[in-house]
Amino acid sequence: MADKIEEIPKLIKDAGQRQYLPGEMLGRGGFASVWRAKVVDRRTPPEAGECALKVVRRSIRGEQLRTRFKFELGIHNKLRHPNIVAFYRAFTQAELTFVSLELCENGSLTDVVKRRKFLTMGEIRRWLIQLCGAVKYLHLRDVVHRDIKAGNVFLDADMNVKLGDFGLASIMVPTKDLSSYTRRTTFCGTPNYLAPEVLSRGGHDKSVDIWAIGILAYYLAVGRAPFHSKSKDEIYERVRNADYAWPDLGPESNEIPEDLKSLVATLLVPEAQRPTPDEVVRHPFFAHGFVPDKIDPLARTRRPRWA
Ligand code: ADP
Repeated sequence: MADKIEEIPKLIKDAGQRQYLPGEMLGRGGFASVWRAKVVDRRTPPEAGECALKVVRRSIRGEQLRTRFKFELGIHNKLRHPNIVAFYRAFTQAELTFVSLELCENGSLTDVVKRRKFLTMGEIRRWLIQLCGAVKYLHLRDVVHRDIKAGNVFLDADMNVKLGDFGLASIMVPTKDLSSYTRRTTFCGTPNYLAPEVLSRGGHDKSVDIWAIGILAYYLAVGRAPFHSKSKDEIYERVRNADYAWPDLGPESNEIPEDLKSLVATLLVPEAQRPTPDEVVRHPFFAHGFVPDKIDPLARTRRPRWA
């Protein structure tokens, strides 16, 4: 597709004093590609020498996509939280738009699960606590992420969670009397992570992010999403019926404590019953087990030794 970018200039300059020297491509999204880049600047911080450069063609096809991308940058630019991918700046050069972002050296949770199949409870506790901190911050500012999934939860060099990709995020608009919020009705997200109220198109709000945390918790422990099926329609049918089960224990599978099952059961419920991010981390799952205060980058490929 003409929008895909296979090559970028060897030297990129922003409107200020910074120069960027791109290295390897880190990944590709719907219409952007992301490259690791060295930042050359005498006043280096906050990029600390390296960043992730997201590149999009300025003439990106379609008015809707262009508006959506601007909206994504507008939201992301205002967010500052230790567990959200830091947004540094956006600028253009020739026909390309560049966004410099905090570099997440260790990829996404999808990469880890693909290599490891499933994670230890210690990792799941630590990463969910960090993710809930990020989601609490967003919700307090009336931002709903709407695309929380393992592929959008990145890990920095110290294996801390950084929530990224605000491409589907929206801002909740209060109703006229300020007593609640206008519900969003856009049908968007990733099939395995979609909440039932998004499927029924009756409108949805912040609690779609909490549902997605429930899907993620199951996925990290089991290695596949709870409603996973061959087709989208089958997934949706299972979501509507809350039809999921925990796999039988076998030598090749994870030992899943009752506390984790109970946590997931409190998240995959009708929206009115879903907890807030603060209530999520108060669940006994987090209190009744080990929470590591640091995770070694070796955990990307190998089960940590504490387990
Ligand atoms: P899109 O919004 O088009 O889906 P993403 O923001 O998801 O694009 O980025 C596409 C891929 O680029 C990701 O899946 C990941 O592999 C990589 N990537 C994105 N942001 C970063 C980052 N900050 N650090 C490291 N890799 C990243």
